Amino acid sequence: MKIKTWELKKRKDPLKFHYTEDLSALAKEFPQIKKITPVNINGTATELAGLYKVKGVMETTLSMECSKCLSDFDYLLKAEFEELFVSEEVETNFTDDEDDETIHALENDEIDLATIIEEQFIVNIPFIPVCNTDCKGLCVVCGTNLNEETCDCKVEKIDPRLADLQKWFDQMDRKE
Ligand SMILES: [Zn+2]
Ligand SMILES: [Zn+2]
Repeated sequence: MKIKTWELKKRKDPLKFHYTEDLSALAKEFPQIKKITPVNINGTATELAGLYKVKGVMETTLSMECSKCLSDFDYLLKAEFEELFVSEEVETNFTDDEDDETIHALENDEIDLATIIEEQFIVNIPFIPVCNTDCKGLCVVCGTNLNEETCDCKVEKIDPRLADLQKWFDQMDRKE
């Protein structure tokens, strides 16, 4: 969605927006994402003394693959955003003395929400997704999903501190 700055300038109350955006094409770029449902976006846009403020919430459900057990699960991605814009010709007034990088300069008379939404989406994707904080993962020997069943494989898990202790005992044994 694009918002015309002249439209914001002429209105007294904030412009409310609610729409959905299809970001499913982005799934290709992130191997951990299987599917992206259309993103719900809700927010407001206002103008104050030449500055445009756009804020809101975006929400979508991602179908992801758990990095531990490799099964698919749904992940709710919800992010709030708040961005400031200023038209390019006034931009210098803001950036020169404040060095404020959080204000985006507008090349024309419209604010493109797609850029904000895409940015927010990307920074909020879990990079190592897990279906559940206590996912047991797969057995390293036979590949059984340990959340669903158990197996009889013997996987020795020695606490590194205990391993040191074990070494010490072995040395004692040899001395005897
Ligand atoms: Zn899992
Ligand atoms: Zn096993």
